[in-house]
Amino acid sequence: MPEYPDVEMYVDHLRRRFVGEKLERVRLASPFVVRTFDPPISEAHGKGVLGFRRLGKRIVFELEEELMLVVHLMISGRFRLGEPGVKIPGKLGLAAFDFAKATLILTEASTQKRASIHLLRGEEGLERIDPGGLELFTATKEEFRARMRLENRTLKRALTDPRILSGVGNAYSDEILFDAQLSPTKRTKDLSDAELDLLFTATKKTLESWKELLLRDTGEKFPEKVTAFRPEMAVHGKYGQPCPRCRSKVQRIRYASNESNYCARCQTGGKLLADRSLSRLLKDEWPRTLEELEARERPKAEARSTESTTAPVTADSKTSTKRVSRKTKRIAPH
Ligand SMILES: [Zn+2]
Repeated sequence: MPEYPDVEMYVDHLRRRFVGEKLERVRLASPFVVRTFDPPISEAHGKGVLGFRRLGKRIVFELEEELMLVVHLMISGRFRLGEPGVKIPGKLGLAAFDFAKATLILTEASTQKRASIHLLRGEEGLERIDPGGLELFTATKEEFRARMRLENRTLKRALTDPRILSGVGNAYSDEILFDAQLSPTKRTKDLSDAELDLLFTATKKTLESWKELLLRDTGEKFPEKVTAFRPEMAVHGKYGQPCPRCRSKVQRIRYASNESNYCARCQTGGKLLADRSLSRLLKDEWPRTLEELEARERPKAEARSTESTTAPVTADSKTSTKRVSRKTKRIAPH
């Protein structure tokens, strides 16, 4: 799913094409894609685009009169560019943003439609949907240390929690941990200042170099192939392939429909992570699916007011611990 590098790349391309243009109209394939009703989406019609920015993993269209149109791509949401007024494609199309020069189409290649549009008023409106993750490129190393130590989490979980850090998900967290040579199941409170500083540097380095690579790759062309699996990745999606650093085989931890990849020799002192490490991740309230992770990406205030409803999630994770642990035994590494 689109993370910091992908979202920044989109923002860059959108800026180049649409800043200073007028958003003539928003057409919807289904009204359900818009999750807000006040102001109505029609209020965005005819407004000039002042800018674009990233908010966590969301993309914000800054419109005139302090209107903020926010698109969350979730897992399978993508943008494509079409001729002005082009029809919204049948199966995949969710919405079309009409400009004089081109139409920007929002698609989602999944039967479960999770991508969303919010229309909000001003910075205050944005704040309400901000999960509150630390912005890595404006943070100091002290802020990073404090944020990571706020709760004693596994590194994988801490990196991908949108309330802890902004813009990191499953794919790039694998790459970050590989770069920092740290185990995904190591606990945040077991890390020294020096290790956390190393992780901070690795995080920024990984995200920035991927953003640059993606921008270089797309050039002038609007990005059409945004994917979480890139051949240039070191470990993510590379199970069984040689580690680019030490040539030993890349390992995986599987949880529900997802997996996390790492190199045992480079990251865990040669130890293969199996049952116990996996249950550590799950006890850490590891979301069973990315959807579940993203569903947690909700306003802090809302999260507090519905705290009681989070209890079943914990119970579910325990159930899945057993289920997934058994599965792990079967694929037990040799
Ligand atoms: Zn290695």
